[in-house]
Amino acid sequence: MRATELRESILKHLEFSQGKDLAHASLYDMRMALTLAIRDRVIEPWFRATRATYAAQSKRVYYLSMEFLIGRLLEDAVMNIGLTEAAHEAISGLGHDFRAVLDDEPDAALGNGGLGRLAACFLDSLSTLGCPAYGYGIRYEHGLFRQSFGPDGRQVETAEDWLRQSHGWEFERPEAAFNIGFGGTVAESGRSAVWTPDNAVVAKAYDTPVIGWQGKWANTLRLWGAEPLSAFDLAAFNKGDFVGAAQPEAFARTISRVLYPDDTTEQGKELRLKQEFFFTAASLRDILRRFTAEHGDLSALPSRVAIQMNDTHPAIAGPELVRLLHDERGMEFEQAVDTARACLSYTNHTLLPEALERWPETLMSAVLPRHMQLIERIDALHAQQFPVRSTPIVEKGEVKMGELSFIMANRVNGVSALHTELVKSTVFADLHALHPERIINETNGVTPRRWLKGANHGLSTLITDTIGEGWEDNLERLVELEPAIEDRGFRDRFAAVKKTNKVHLSNWIGDQMGIAVNPDAMFDVQVKRFHEYKRQHLNILETIALWQEIRANPGAGWAPRVKIFGGKAAPGYVMAKEIIHLINNVARVINADAATRDLLTVVYPPNYNVTMAERLIPAADLSEQISTAGKEASGTGNMKFSLNGALTIGTLDGANVEIRDLVGPENFFLFGMTADEVVERRRHPDHASSAIAASPRLSAAIDLIEAGTFSNGDRSTYRGLTQNLRAHDYFTVCADFDSYWDAQRAVDTAWGDADHWMRMAALNTARSGWFSSDRTIKGYMKDVWNIQPMI
Ligand SMILES: *Cc1c(COP(=O)(O)O)cnc(C)c1O
Repeated sequence: MRATELRESILKHLEFSQGKDLAHASLYDMRMALTLAIRDRVIEPWFRATRATYAAQSKRVYYLSMEFLIGRLLEDAVMNIGLTEAAHEAISGLGHDFRAVLDDEPDAALGNGGLGRLAACFLDSLSTLGCPAYGYGIRYEHGLFRQSFGPDGRQVETAEDWLRQSHGWEFERPEAAFNIGFGGTVAESGRSAVWTPDNAVVAKAYDTPVIGWQGKWANTLRLWGAEPLSAFDLAAFNKGDFVGAAQPEAFARTISRVLYPDDTTEQGKELRLKQEFFFTAASLRDILRRFTAEHGDLSALPSRVAIQMNDTHPAIAGPELVRLLHDERGMEFEQAVDTARACLSYTNHTLLPEALERWPETLMSAVLPRHMQLIERIDALHAQQFPVRSTPIVEKGEVKMGELSFIMANRVNGVSALHTELVKSTVFADLHALHPERIINETNGVTPRRWLKGANHGLSTLITDTIGEGWEDNLERLVELEPAIEDRGFRDRFAAVKKTNKVHLSNWIGDQMGIAVNPDAMFDVQVKRFHEYKRQHLNILETIALWQEIRANPGAGWAPRVKIFGGKAAPGYVMAKEIIHLINNVARVINADAATRDLLTVVYPPNYNVTMAERLIPAADLSEQISTAGKEASGTGNMKFSLNGALTIGTLDGANVEIRDLVGPENFFLFGMTADEVVERRRHPDHASSAIAASPRLSAAIDLIEAGTFSNGDRSTYRGLTQNLRAHDYFTVCADFDSYWDAQRAVDTAWGDADHWMRMAALNTARSGWFSSDRTIKGYMKDVWNIQPMI
């Protein structure tokens, strides 16, 4: 029935939306027709949710995020509305391969990594829980760059063009457009002021419906695209100045052209500040427009509007909302500040000092002159209300967006228990002393619909066969698997699912990279952005040491391993790129060594993204979560792996701490210094050299790199990397090396008892239910937004 109906709908869209008949339909045509047929079925719940929200005059959540790493949408939407089988049948019946149709969709990489993926998981949970919400962000023409590797193993970046084909999910909203100004002058006017920008662009809305589990509710992801006020300077064109004629267009479109790579070392990018203001200001205008259409009195704003700032990127929301209320709507300044604060909350995502945004005062004054004045007034008001010395927002010629966000937020949250304690005791220690109720914890989570149901069909089927349906939106029910784990039969099925996933991945690696990997070997996976704090170099050093040890002692009963790496480095991050280069060349050398071929393989497929994560994670046996303790705020990759039955080798960092507590320390391979020990150890100037001197294995691995083993005899290639390890090693790779090595050998031993390994793996799945982003969003709804679900 449903397949027949869907088939009709696909054929209708093929003909009337794509202008094709079935005989001439390309894969793209089929994918677009299916997308539009599915989108049609999302409209009804979407409208229903909007009407219900208006009727109940409900509060709404506005999630402001510079990044939404949404990946592909079709398979997820089909699954959420329960049409997977019908769609499969309809597409097959029309003579096309369903999997190929799904795989034809580009991966929308509108984010760098964890922060953007969190925003995407939150959208899914907000809809699943029936929480009225909008996601607001930027419709980047080019998402994060596409990564490939040159013949020498270096990262090569090219532009991502996901919008080259039309994006079937979105609705363009020419009527929802706002002029966003920059620069200009400020004229005093009574007690407030009038800002006259000297240039402006139009922010135009593009809406994507976000359907929740079982189609019960849908929210909107509204992304802003930048356009010129006037498309074209006809006067210039008529004078023959064709390039000049296109200037206004070029400037405007630049604003939503590219996603900035998470380039923690680069500072003072004017365009980035403009992007931040662009999407934040457009979103606030839109929020106030919606509010005033329904209500009159702006003092009621906080009872209807909860705005979440995902990191400091939308921090300009504080002064902009004050400006809208005070300058434009005549509210008293102090009341405007209080009203804005009652609407705003802020999520901190990092303690790395270089990643905490600061803007030169001169730049802020030039781009946003009125906001600079308001920031100074907010600073002065805070100093007057809390005369105890605290860190000012504006200091040494810089505007500190973390302090601004804290002072303008009613709640500030960390993203794991450990991270939240560190937020209290480090970056915001003095503000925390003044506002001890403000900082709370909301440990991150991931959506089980995408990361288990969608990505791991075998395991999902096994779970449903064992505990019945209904775990998808009630993930803590996974604990009901525990009694079954005692059965050998269940463990064998669990092992068979893992094996099938590994065979699929092996085939894919063979196709993509021409490398044969043994699906019976342990799949040891580290996939995440490249950063020194995430310590991919610790992993590759251990790989080199292991290779040496296997060569020296080939008969020692080694557990065969496939080391899998994935991830991009910010184009300007030299050290991270050097680590990528090293890994590719270690892979080349080790994979060519006949003596170790059956025991150790290193693969690094390029262009890690959400789609690749969905492929790799269900096939992983071992999850590498090896950051320097105190540096990873939470991690969400760690949760996806554990949920999919991988064991973690990790430090006591971020949410690893909570994962270990929940799955049990006996089902987790812990190593390394604690956050406190790292800080203490770093006080010793020789912390790295003494660790190298004390570890013959580490010493030999570094020597091999320096001898040119992985650089065709060139001894200088990795000098930057090895010198840094020997001399500085801020991320304490050397001091943690031996502990990591020992933990890896404990992993080998555990792997030797295959049945016990599967028991541990299954217990990871059974005990990871708490890491559903539904639990996280329920926490925000209760503790941060004070909002009730509508379903
Ligand atoms: C989950 C995810 C991340 C975050 O991974 P971490 O290991 O937590 O840093 C990054 N990128 C993609 C594509 C993801 O799916």
